[in-house]
Amino acid sequence: MAQFTMLDGATTIGGTKLLFEASTSPDATRLLFDFGLNYATMGAYFEEFLTPRTSAGLTDYLTTGLLPKLRFYRSDLTALLQEMQPELARQLADPHHINACFITHAHVDHTGSISFLDETIPLYATPVTAAVLRAVEETQFSSGPENGVTDFILRPNLGANKHGQHSIVDLAGPMQFPDCQVTPFPVDHSIPGACAYLIEYDGGKLVYTGDLRFHGRMGHVTESSIEGLAAAHPDAVLIEGTNLRSNEGSSDHDTAFRRRFAFWSEQGVEAKALEEIHGASGLVMADFGMKDLDRLMTFQRVAHATGRRLAILPRDAYIVRLAQEAGYPTIDLADPELVLYVKRAGSGTYDKGDIKQDWARSTLLRFAGSDPDSVDPKDRRDAVVDVLNGSCPRIVRAAEVVAHQSDYLLSLGYWDVQELCDLHPSRGSLYIHSSAEAFNEEMSWSQERLARWLDLTGMDSVHIHASGHAPQEDLFRIVERLAPTHVYPIHTEHPERYAEQFGSLVTLLANGQMAPLHS
Ligand SMILES: [Zn+2]
Ligand SMILES: [Zn+2]
Repeated sequence: MAQFTMLDGATTIGGTKLLFEASTSPDATRLLFDFGLNYATMGAYFEEFLTPRTSAGLTDYLTTGLLPKLRFYRSDLTALLQEMQPELARQLADPHHINACFITHAHVDHTGSISFLDETIPLYATPVTAAVLRAVEETQFSSGPENGVTDFILRPNLGANKHGQHSIVDLAGPMQFPDCQVTPFPVDHSIPGACAYLIEYDGGKLVYTGDLRFHGRMGHVTESSIEGLAAAHPDAVLIEGTNLRSNEGSSDHDTAFRRRFAFWSEQGVEAKALEEIHGASGLVMADFGMKDLDRLMTFQRVAHATGRRLAILPRDAYIVRLAQEAGYPTIDLADPELVLYVKRAGSGTYDKGDIKQDWARSTLLRFAGSDPDSVDPKDRRDAVVDVLNGSCPRIVRAAEVVAHQSDYLLSLGYWDVQELCDLHPSRGSLYIHSSAEAFNEEMSWSQERLARWLDLTGMDSVHIHASGHAPQEDLFRIVERLAPTHVYPIHTEHPERYAEQFGSLVTLLANGQMAPLHS
């Protein structure tokens, strides 16, 4: 009989880790679905300057429950654990072999622990998700070595910083195994490339929704995938429940923003942003997730409509380009009103030596109108000198923005808030916060800090957002349309809402619990 185990993420938003087994036989196909970082567990034991010791390999992660106690980790980490913590190593259960890990989308709560997995386990993702993962990995500067997905530093690190690699395979259609088949179904979410999975095994079918919604720019994609999945008549459904609320009402965290507007459509966000920016006479800053390319499109449209130039970071432009090359319809990078904003780094004087990575040099050269592929990689460093001096119309520094504040819509967020020291927002400047509001204490503290920055610089602020996840009524509608005989809530703090609605169809699983898939 097939079965799956909820390794992690049963009653938290994210940290999702699922193990599917086509049967209990030792040589059955065994597949992982997502292997994310559990922010709730991370926050329960760690904080900014109290982090898991990467030098200790798996030890801190296994001990605190950030990683499940199964024997499917990288060979270097396993050897280190056996040498230094043989007792802990013996506690790891043997899951037999793992044939593959399927990724639903590139959010960290679904991918953030993959770098620990056995490097021989192939990773499967849609071509767009694979592109986003590669772009983010290539452009992240300061995160630790265990935060990557494909690239990792071998342990013990004896100073040589030797790297290992996971490979991601682009998944375009069904993937056939001897005793099961996995098919991706694209869905809309606040990141490009997201998908649900249909898993067909001997005697049954299981759907795992991943994270999804109907109300984004690509909502029609979710619509047709749910239709396709319903036609397959799944027996069991693992469904997300991010937006389920308790009947008690949620404890509202204080907000840092003067005005707050929540919508259930991207059009609502666009219309409200348009109205707010029309009323702003100074600089406008928009703060949203760098991987949310649909929100980026919203702000590009708003910039056009208000006669402002949209300024984005080179990193954001690079993610757009890679997602676009993988087939995702997003903003036009050749739009002359789309410009790059260059931050001061390294020397603090916009020196060519500050641009160290080739992806950044290539991106700058493209916006300067030259073809980086025609410049020898060794010469690109010198080539960027001419584009950092403020003479390129599509590459701006703080000085250019300061001189023409009402001409810009600057896509910068909390993690770049120090830029305000250089930007000196004039009267009538506006900060638009356009991602999820604080839902835990640490996020509340960040928003309090942001509020202080906005007070310091005299900026007005507004929160305008549409959730990346479906509301309760849409989630219930998915269950009704898929009409399974078993429902397993996941990725939610309120799984009981499904049980209240669907009664005995629903099984609430705890982390580590296995569910047999009856045929
Ligand atoms: Zn998630
Ligand atoms: Zn997500």
